[in-house]
Amino acid sequence: MEALAEKIYQQAMQCGFDPCGIIPVSALTGFLDLYQKRLNDVPMSQYFYGQEGMLAKTQERFPWTKPIVILVFDYGKYRFPSELQGKYGKAFFLEPEKETEERFDLESFETWFSENGIHTEGGEHFGAFSIGPFRYMAMQAALGIIRKNNFFYTDKGSYVNLYAYAIDKECELIHENTIVPCSEKCDLCRRACKTGSLQAPYTMNPFKCVSFLTTFGNCEVPDGLSDEMYGEWIIGCDNCQDVCPHNKRHNWSRGKALASLENIVSEILPENYDNLTDEFLIKYIIPKTSNHLQEKDVLCDCCNQE
Ligand code: SF4
Ligand code: SF4
Repeated sequence: MEALAEKIYQQAMQCGFDPCGIIPVSALTGFLDLYQKRLNDVPMSQYFYGQEGMLAKTQERFPWTKPIVILVFDYGKYRFPSELQGKYGKAFFLEPEKETEERFDLESFETWFSENGIHTEGGEHFGAFSIGPFRYMAMQAALGIIRKNNFFYTDKGSYVNLYAYAIDKECELIHENTIVPCSEKCDLCRRACKTGSLQAPYTMNPFKCVSFLTTFGNCEVPDGLSDEMYGEWIIGCDNCQDVCPHNKRHNWSRGKALASLENIVSEILPENYDNLTDEFLIKYIIPKTSNHLQEKDVLCDCCNQE
């Protein structure tokens, strides 16, 4: 491993990340074709993914970029209370909140870059669109693969989140990918998707996805879907990940407990909803949803309309 790449890798580990890779910005050239294919396969997703065209413009947006540092955060290392399973998406509730000791430390990572004379952009500065296509970047660094259910998997499974930085100093760290791809015959994820959102391998229709509909989708039930298809999901949906053999061995009763989650389990069970207040939702739930829900969603009265 090159000296600078090694230092960045070690710093990423110290800041609470799991693997980290570094790819040349030129490795992103194939993304535009993939993006266009996706729009062709599901034309109605143009509205949803339209802005993702921005992701294909990393070099244009940050002309000084040499390589991209891509970071994996494995939230599967935390325990997920059994009472919440099948109701709340794990990705929302298991990423430790800002200013808690369990959370990865992007601030220290950025300080380290700055102290070492490395100019960066990225981290959490650009919200959901950030500096480029995270999953594609992580694949180019051979940190994992995208499976037929459209989720990115490392060798530990799909319960990971990604972060990235564009930096202005040349270096590279590409891993060896030993991950076995999906079996040709497997369609367990498609069969587990009750709304038919996974309409073909590697092809998801966001407007039928419970995870989208219970967050950005304003809780609407579009034509052709029924309440029953949502199962008991309240925020998010993990059906197509939980059923996957590459995740199946995951034991959610093990792992480090997140105090901020363990302390509110009983309050957020559906049978206790009558006691939930707007203040509680804003203080304890909204910060857990990675901007998928916002304060205005709590204060809106759409659920109270006839
Ligand atoms: S998250 Fe749920 S609704 Fe969305 S594709 Fe997966 S199983 Fe289907
Ligand atoms: S359930 Fe099967 S087809 Fe779907 S992502 Fe997992 S291995 Fe691939």
